[in-house]
Amino acid sequence: MKVDTQKCIGCGLCEEVCPLEVIQVHEKKAKIAEGCCECKTCLKVCPEDALRPDEKYEGEKCTACPVMCVIPEGYFGACKRYVNEKGKVVRKGRIHTYEEVKDIIKGEEDALIEEPLILGIGSGTTYPDFRPSPFIVSGIREGTEIVTVVTEAPLSYSGLKLKIDTDLYIGEETKSVYVLKKGRRKIGHVCTEEYGSKMISLGGVNILTSKDGLFAAKTIYEILLGRWVKLYVEDGATVEISLGKTPVVDGKKEEVMRVGCGSATTGLFAPTMMEAADEIIILDGHITGLFSEHPSGRYLGKKRSPIYIKGKKSTDGRYFLNKGRGIGGTDIERPLDVIEYVDWEKAKEGLTLLITETTGTFYAYFRLKGKEFVEEPPPKEALRFIELLRSSCEKSKVSALFSAGIGGSARAGVTKNPLRLTRAVHEGKVRITIGGARPFVFPGGGINFLVDVEKIKYGSIYLSPTPSFILPIEYTMRRETFEEIGGHIEALRPVEEVLNMGK
Ligand code: SF4
Ligand code: SF4
Repeated sequence: MKVDTQKCIGCGLCEEVCPLEVIQVHEKKAKIAEGCCECKTCLKVCPEDALRPDEKYEGEKCTACPVMCVIPEGYFGACKRYVNEKGKVVRKGRIHTYEEVKDIIKGEEDALIEEPLILGIGSGTTYPDFRPSPFIVSGIREGTEIVTVVTEAPLSYSGLKLKIDTDLYIGEETKSVYVLKKGRRKIGHVCTEEYGSKMISLGGVNILTSKDGLFAAKTIYEILLGRWVKLYVEDGATVEISLGKTPVVDGKKEEVMRVGCGSATTGLFAPTMMEAADEIIILDGHITGLFSEHPSGRYLGKKRSPIYIKGKKSTDGRYFLNKGRGIGGTDIERPLDVIEYVDWEKAKEGLTLLITETTGTFYAYFRLKGKEFVEEPPPKEALRFIELLRSSCEKSKVSALFSAGIGGSARAGVTKNPLRLTRAVHEGKVRITIGGARPFVFPGGGINFLVDVEKIKYGSIYLSPTPSFILPIEYTMRRETFEEIGGHIEALRPVEEVLNMGK
């Protein structure tokens, strides 16, 4: 990388982002020390356009990722994994065995406590007080005494994390999510976009305790019951959802979910794309792919087309376009609008261009006639690629994780010492299940978990107007752990006795 000292104002932004820390600003001018790998990170943030790639830079090109570092001998690339050793780019490091990391992965599996002896479904509740949980049972498993404590716990810190499989634009992250119930009721917000899915958070302690809390709780409950619910995103879309069903965004049913972003799709299907057109643009709100510039196109010998597209270039052939209600979740409404300019000196009559979404739902094929791209029916090679895209899609659906914290009172039903219980959960000595379903327990303090609501038996979650959700919870452990954590030994009874009740 070279610095144009006339342009450089010494702002230091390049110094902040250089992954190898080889740029330093001295006397208001950036200086690049030895070891620069031409990753171009600095160039992307320079407000004065003062950095330029060094065309004659000596080094070996790393092709392990789209950054394509040019690594000088004896130095690392931007990710600090690859090194140029005597003119050869090699991965520094070795393959590890599981044994080597076992000590880091605390909370080892204990097969004996994986399954609860009984479930909390139908058990009743003792909340909020210090009484033992309704059922504390013991049984023998492979010669070892196992204890399961069950309760139906009201969880007031809870919420739902919705995953909506769609490329369609639903709204900006952090925007509020409403339902219309005799007026607008705020029940959550847009979280993130995660590789082909939009994430929405509903409920949580702040919303459940707000003036709209009961509306939020009721909406979550309706979702848990599998009903259709209409959500409104502030400055965004209307999203109709039902658990396990295809989402409907602004009245459009999103039938399929893409296999990857525009760049991943390009990488996956590059061989089939070779004959489909001279240039292929895969429009995608995450990353838009430009085939002839993309590493996979280059690898296969695709000739760089004279077409340049809009958007912020991430790395070669990978572009960030504005998000919107246009094609592939971008703001491009008409396919040719994605073209920034054409290098007319290199553009040849008859040049073909295929523009598609990652799902192949929308596509258009063009041929250059004079200085105009004219749409025409795609040839069989292009259709073969579109068909490949379509057949690689999954069915879109709405799924949800229930998110909650097991509070002090719920833990009081297990033990007189909630802190010991918490520690034992994190150490893997106590297994928590929700109606038998295995949750993910967050690291850190307390017992916060996420559980797939479709794994919880239908009808075993209740809504209480505090507002809170009542979930069946089981704590399963060896008897010695139950004693160690100060469990309510006095309430222990044989599992058979409980199972025979009501027979
Ligand atoms: S190209 Fe990469 S390694 Fe070189 S100075 Fe810029 S940020 Fe640092
Ligand atoms: S894998 Fe690492 S060294 Fe290689 S191009 Fe990518 S960032 Fe650079």
